[in-house]
Amino acid sequence: MIVNDDFLAYTLRHPEQNDGLNFTFPSGRARVEGAGILCLEPEVQQSNLSLVLSVGIHGNETGPIELANGLVKSILAGDLVLGVRLLFIIGNPRAVIQAQRFCDVNLNRLFCGSWQSQQGYEAQRAQQLERSVKTFFEASDPVGAQKLHYDLHTAIRGSVHEKFAVHPYAPKAIYQQRQLAFLAACGVEAVLFSHQPTSTFSYHSFAQHDAQASTIELGKVRAFGENDLSSFLQMKRALTELLVTGELVQDRVSDLSLYEVVDSLTKDDQSYRLNIADDLENFTPFEQDFCLAESLEQRYIVKQAGDAIVFPNTKLPVGQRAGLVVRSKPMSRFNFQ
Ligand SMILES: [Zn+2]
Repeated sequence: MIVNDDFLAYTLRHPEQNDGLNFTFPSGRARVEGAGILCLEPEVQQSNLSLVLSVGIHGNETGPIELANGLVKSILAGDLVLGVRLLFIIGNPRAVIQAQRFCDVNLNRLFCGSWQSQQGYEAQRAQQLERSVKTFFEASDPVGAQKLHYDLHTAIRGSVHEKFAVHPYAPKAIYQQRQLAFLAACGVEAVLFSHQPTSTFSYHSFAQHDAQASTIELGKVRAFGENDLSSFLQMKRALTELLVTGELVQDRVSDLSLYEVVDSLTKDDQSYRLNIADDLENFTPFEQDFCLAESLEQRYIVKQAGDAIVFPNTKLPVGQRAGLVVRSKPMSRFNFQ
């Protein structure tokens, strides 16, 4: 059984467990599908929504883990009445225990089958998570089921927009206004629209399962106990409403800053470096013609004043993404439905 309804504590005590523990809670029944993977089925479904809520894909991103674990705890204890199907995932338990981003390789680059070309714990984990998500979504109502996946993170560095979301690449570039309005209600300030398919967890659900999905960055990485959970209050309220009623709380989309990706930077050589301070915040704008990155192979010159960098990181192997160059884009130039 899950002592004190604390699935996080349970997972950290049994980080390798794979057998299915079944139990009931006041508003439904639950099954532990694997380490850190908990499927909850409500007794009374308020909407035909199936929600995947994932946290800790990067083990040291503890804020969202605490936030979501608290919500699940309230459901298991009977303080919240679950009204939707929920798959709660603590993505990388081993890395959580080690307080590391990952053990062998970045888990959030291994989905859409990319794990097949990798070795180690995260490769096995990506395969397992893909399987669980597939089983979960396939068991949803075949007629008119609404599939959602929110993958919650915190970023390595600070950000001009403290909370922001990354929307998966959509081939037809048509986006759901309801999703953006929900993100606004979660306290998200900016949305970055991906320019190409990726191997992230949220893109996987979007592309493989036709779910509406986002990667949501909720602030800066901190250790367990050091998170200011009050900064997640809007997110908590919106998720609570979603879990209980199946409703996507809506806020003003016009308050969001929207960005498109202009270029993806790749670490092309060991000599590769970014000409920015270690503590430069995500979305900090640059002047035109600024030499943002250089290596013995090439230089990257900023094309337009205001272009900014998101997720800069050069502490990774040659060939991997060293950052995204993004550009603000007015709402009128997006297609919504
Ligand atoms: Zn992360």
